[in-house]
Amino acid sequence: MESHYRAVLPREFRSIPQLAQLGAAALEDMDIVARVLPFKTNPYVVEQLIDWSRAPDDPIFQLVFPHREMLPAEEFAALHSLVRTGANRDELNREAGRIRAALNPHPANQTDKNVPDLDGERLVGLQHKYRETVLFFPKSAQTCHAYCAFCFRWPQFIEEPGLRFALAESQKLFAYLRAHREVTDLLVTGGDPMTMSSRRLELCLEPLMAPELDHVQNVRIGTKALSFWPHRFVSDPDADEVMRLIERLARAGKHVAIMAHINHAVELSTSVVQRAIARLRSAGAQIRSQSPVLRHVNDDPAVWQALWREQVKLGICPYYMFVARDTGARSRFDLPLARTLEIYREAIRGVSGLARTARGPSMSTSAGKIEIQGTAEVSGEQVFVLSFLQGRQPEWVKKPFFARFDAKATWIDDLVPAGGARHFFFET
Ligand SMILES: *Cc1c(COP(=O)(O)O)cnc(C)c1O
Ligand code: SF4
Repeated sequence: MESHYRAVLPREFRSIPQLAQLGAAALEDMDIVARVLPFKTNPYVVEQLIDWSRAPDDPIFQLVFPHREMLPAEEFAALHSLVRTGANRDELNREAGRIRAALNPHPANQTDKNVPDLDGERLVGLQHKYRETVLFFPKSAQTCHAYCAFCFRWPQFIEEPGLRFALAESQKLFAYLRAHREVTDLLVTGGDPMTMSSRRLELCLEPLMAPELDHVQNVRIGTKALSFWPHRFVSDPDADEVMRLIERLARAGKHVAIMAHINHAVELSTSVVQRAIARLRSAGAQIRSQSPVLRHVNDDPAVWQALWREQVKLGICPYYMFVARDTGARSRFDLPLARTLEIYREAIRGVSGLARTARGPSMSTSAGKIEIQGTAEVSGEQVFVLSFLQGRQPEWVKKPFFARFDAKATWIDDLVPAGGARHFFFET
């Protein structure tokens, strides 16, 4: 078993022997897209998660490898012809940079909205949008063990800063949390915090056990490592230290929640992921799972049923089904809202009540998380019934509202209020 992490980066495409079966033209397409969008995989994903007899349709292949449809057709063609005509590296980089800038790298203004202040200083790396939960993006967690093709967090994917920076950063986090007793949840996210060493994780988590941070009851860690590199919890050199850290937090009375990003049941099928799950649970962590619904990856109720059933079997609690966000490469992965609802309803009605803890389909918008509850007819008009699972204003939560049904809409921006109203109630 491969147990030392090794990334496979774009320039090493050709070193993946299984790719040869896809043919030279497909390889060239991938090469072009990878000049614009980040690409990263590793031998575990390539050898154990992808079923190459089903490539290129295999869901994990689709999740990780670039595809020409991830770029707008004219942008792809422009870069393609530059490559064909033998443009030099500077010209290619300039063109790739231009295309990148034209895509939408900051969905819902993730990076600069909801950044809190402490004593007049903007705390970049923190986000406080919903009263009870603070998000922390440690600088050294801005990478993943592999990248998902639909993800546009790449403007954040940068060099790892020094330990001194990490210390200063976490001290600001704790000062903020001490001053905000309404915060019950800290969600450490990225990138993937599980790409950090155990020492860096300790810097972020150990101080939460101090009595003055008793109000921070729930410690969530958002991660894709269970799927992309479960060895992180089993055989990485500091895997045991990570387990001991989780144990200490759990013994100190914290609820340690691993918020696992899992798109497909195949990610739960290997013996190493099952060992990782068992270890996390015996250390005292609870594992919850969330995933967007993605065309080409999991746009099938049977896939979700298998995923949720397997999760319950392994002791993971299904948590959220998301609608894919409005980012650049999303056009390759997006689905009409009406279809996401069909997938959710068909999937959920076929599983045990224990698996019906997954909420959704949910859109993470700048106003909050909006759940599509269903469709209905109101005063002769066909509508979507929507409500907030999380809202910028707590009083918005669980208050049903209606949008005119639209079979093609893929995001809240495409919807208009039902009954001819000008605005949704939360828009001023
Ligand atoms: C989803 C999310 C949370 C957590 O919401 P829960 O419903 O408590 O899981 C917190 N902050 C932001 C910005 C989020 O998008
Ligand atoms: S693991 Fe998460 S942050 Fe990393 S590439 Fe995938 S979706 Fe993006």
